[in-house]
Amino acid sequence: MTLPNVSIEFFPPKTPEGVEKLRVARGKLAALQPKYFSVTFGAGGSTQKGTLETVLDIKGEGHDAAPHLSCIGSSRDSLRAILQEYKENGIKRLVALRGDLPSGYGAFGEIRYANELVEFIRAETGDWFHVEVAAYPETHPQARSPQDDLASFVRKVNAGADAAITQYFYNADAYFRFVDDAARAGANVPIVAGVMPITNYSQLMRFSDMCGAEIPRWIRLKLASFGDDTASIKAFGLDVVTALCERLISGGAPGLHFYTLNQAAATVEICRRLGG
Ligand code: FAD
Repeated sequence: MTLPNVSIEFFPPKTPEGVEKLRVARGKLAALQPKYFSVTFGAGGSTQKGTLETVLDIKGEGHDAAPHLSCIGSSRDSLRAILQEYKENGIKRLVALRGDLPSGYGAFGEIRYANELVEFIRAETGDWFHVEVAAYPETHPQARSPQDDLASFVRKVNAGADAAITQYFYNADAYFRFVDDAARAGANVPIVAGVMPITNYSQLMRFSDMCGAEIPRWIRLKLASFGDDTASIKAFGLDVVTALCERLISGGAPGLHFYTLNQAAATVEICRRLGG
């Protein structure tokens, strides 16, 4: 099997040890020759400095890197300043998101939805950036309906997004259906599949509750049955996620975007099994 385009996501480390650990993880992941690395951004700008620093570290090592940019809780002026700073640093790729407000954070800001952010980016910077947006094969948790969510996705594409990355999922059918529905609705951009390796049961359940990704019952029960046996959780997780990726690749997914949580081992092993 030939590995399709791979991209790799990190979050900005908060401590010097975290920076060092990420450097080591990145060295291992670079062997996969990813198309680019991306770095998340805290809503309300809470990790803005760390996002840029991490992106510049990655670019300094000779790889392409994309900062994420979220608009919720931000003013137009602050977003404009960030875009300018990214341009000045030769950054050509962005992942544009609405973001989620941290609890206790009051205001929505001046730009409410990601389609408005994409419009703003295009109005301010033309075609300078390659812009990726988020897609939700299992429907965003705050959407009124799957149809509404699809319409929101189409608006982001019409606003000028070049491509999309999905929320992670373990139901390949949901992904293929979403891709078909998006194409039928006129959103003909590559929709890269987001992949979350499984290495930790409680962490996976926590994330999935927040973001609305469904863990199929058979996977959930099996993971729960392993208790503290982390070796079995990891071994099972590798099998399940590799099989998912195989299905995605053979069904025509244009790329795989790995949510690494700054860890290399599982992503490297999955890609090795896929033939990368
Ligand atoms: P939108 O596309 O704006 O959609 C948000 C919700 O509003 C959806 O339910 C949509 O259906 C609805 N909606 C959209 N437009 C309208 C409208 N006009 N009227 C009514 N409803 C509407 N979060 C971060 O904070 N930082 C990150 O770095 C980050 N990276 C991510 C990377 C990827 C690949 C993905 C998939 C998610 C990421 N997230 C990140 C999480 C993301 O910010 C959340 O999922 C957020 O809740 C929605 O962001 P969005 O860009 O999809 O929003």
